[in-house]
Amino acid sequence: MSDLAAFAFGLPKAELHLHLEGTLEPELKFELAARNGIQLAQTSVEEVRATYDFTDLTSFLAVYYPAMEVLQTADDFHDLAWAYLLRAKEQGVVHAEMFFDPQAHTSRVVPFSAVIGGYRRAAVRAQDELGISAELILCFLRDFSAEFAMATLMEALEYKQWIVGVGLDSDERDNPPSKFAAVFARAKSEGFFLTMHCDIDQVGSIDNIGEVLRDIRVDRIDHGTNIVEDPALVALAKERGLGFTCCPVSNSFVTEQMKADEIVTLLREGVRVTVNSDDPAYFGAYVAENYVALAAQAGLDEADLAQLAINSFEASWLTPARRDAYVSAVRDYAAEHGVSLSR
Ligand SMILES: [Zn+2]
Repeated sequence: MSDLAAFAFGLPKAELHLHLEGTLEPELKFELAARNGIQLAQTSVEEVRATYDFTDLTSFLAVYYPAMEVLQTADDFHDLAWAYLLRAKEQGVVHAEMFFDPQAHTSRVVPFSAVIGGYRRAAVRAQDELGISAELILCFLRDFSAEFAMATLMEALEYKQWIVGVGLDSDERDNPPSKFAAVFARAKSEGFFLTMHCDIDQVGSIDNIGEVLRDIRVDRIDHGTNIVEDPALVALAKERGLGFTCCPVSNSFVTEQMKADEIVTLLREGVRVTVNSDDPAYFGAYVAENYVALAAQAGLDEADLAQLAINSFEASWLTPARRDAYVSAVRDYAAEHGVSLSR
């Protein structure tokens, strides 16, 4: 491992854009299929990996959703999240705000209580056994109806203390943020933080980003680097200290490139961009590996990576005291490695 890679792995960091369902490694998929008596179409890990050949978001989602059939019980959801948290620990993660997609499970008659019960158990265990604070963000699937999203939000209220915020993911095409304005307004009134996916290079990307910033008034944006096309929106995001959860390796799968230029442009302008793994089992890179890949692509140094880690805490939904403590930990880590931070 290079010095820069070792620095990236050891850097204390928060992961803010991680879909728990996207951490299903082929080995665990087979284990869960056997446990639940499900016959998979593929017979080996290699065959499963061979299906991970995506050209865009739609081709990814076509592989992603069917794989979830192996998730049936609270134990299955626990085991999935726990496997991720063990990997996260190796990658220097000390705080994780993890997306989950209840509708991908309740729509195939798996109870909401099994999904959140299993995930929550892993989150509590992570704090006790790994020293990782782990929170859950409920994501609505934007290709389902607004009514289904609202019903899911109502069902989630019973578990409010286990959920830090709500998000919006899946296929953005023909499913603009405005479709869910009422759902997000209700979620905000219930005290949830708000975030939404603004996927890369979608039709109407910049209009959707404007809507999310000005009308929905989210607390964070997932992806969203098309904002560089509109300097007025960049200025607004900077003024609000809004976080962007970028996923360079994921970008290189669903578009032609990592979008390193956009990420670095925003970083240099002082916008709170962060680096995350999105669906690491499918894109073959966990969070520290995303730091390393972006650094290699864009020529970033240790100080840049430390700034990205500081951004990850500043864009998190931790309390100010805990956020400041983690930022200090990054500064200490940089100083120990002889890295001076400009900002
Ligand atoms: Zn995502």
